[in-house]
Amino acid sequence: MNLDLPRMRFAHLPTAIENMPRLSAALGGYKLMVKRDDQTGLGLGGNKTRKLEFIIADAIAQKAHTLITSGAIQSNHVRQTAAAAAHFNFDCILVLTGEPPTFSSGNLFLDELFDAEIVWTNAQGRDQCIKQVYDQAEKNGRKPYLIPGGGSNPLGVSAYALAIQELLDQIGTSNGELPMPDWIVFASSSGGTQAGLILGSRLFGFSGKILGISIIDHEEYMQKRIATLVNETSSFLGEKITIKPEDILINGNYLGSGYAQMGKPEEEAIHLFARTEGLLVDPVYTGRAAAGLIDLIHHSYFSPDQTILFWHTGGIPALFADTYQKQFRR
Ligand SMILES: *Cc1c(COP(=O)(O)O)cnc(C)c1O
Repeated sequence: MNLDLPRMRFAHLPTAIENMPRLSAALGGYKLMVKRDDQTGLGLGGNKTRKLEFIIADAIAQKAHTLITSGAIQSNHVRQTAAAAAHFNFDCILVLTGEPPTFSSGNLFLDELFDAEIVWTNAQGRDQCIKQVYDQAEKNGRKPYLIPGGGSNPLGVSAYALAIQELLDQIGTSNGELPMPDWIVFASSSGGTQAGLILGSRLFGFSGKILGISIIDHEEYMQKRIATLVNETSSFLGEKITIKPEDILINGNYLGSGYAQMGKPEEEAIHLFARTEGLLVDPVYTGRAAAGLIDLIHHSYFSPDQTILFWHTGGIPALFADTYQKQFRR
């Protein structure tokens, strides 16, 4: 297996695994743990930092000057990309979908601190806009390097395959203190994290179930997208692993009133995690995944003797975004 890819090591790894006894008690005694990928270090951290270790190494190898990526206003991926660009001396252009807000807060505020250039677009014009920005950088003699939304390409997926190896090492060397999880539950949106965890399970022999809580898209779309990412990355690595869309566990029941719309379930999950564990989850991604986890527990989806690992993917800066602050202060 060729997981010996060029890599810049800047993520704080391995991320900690912690028990959540008070949350477990509040939810009826399920054994709940958390893996702290919200604490990967780079510019307040999150899951994109693992992916960026490989993506940045590739951009450096290609002698690029300008990193270009895209996302939503509260994208954690663009924020971590902007931080990596600052750290490794790249120019950074972020193509954001939406209207520029009257003042920037949360992730957008941090994008500006990291000195990224921001270009606004609408959803229909996005691909065209990315192409224009790319061509312009080339014309300016600043070799561009395009990172897909969420950093979900074979490099990013490989990073999460390796995260399974990290998890198994941590459990293996814990002298029995860390149980082997029966389930890994987390927020899934561009699908790279889930594809990596699935691929890593096959490569390194993890037999627990990998359950994504969908943040944006319905199940069938996500299953196809994630299967494609697993299969592409497998051949990229010279492996023969293939997976069918229907074998991918993704729950699309928690989309609420849409992407980045914090509803009651997210708000309650944020309060419950904070109150019981002193642990923060965010309004867009991890709060929604946490709300899904809580609901599934309430509906006895898991059996009570099973161990569930909540893989925390980050997103905390959005807690401080104006839109959500107003809701919390209602
Ligand atoms: C990007 C992101 C996710 C989803 O990860 P994907 O690899 O895009 O599926 C989950 N949580 C947070 C906080 C994120 O920023």
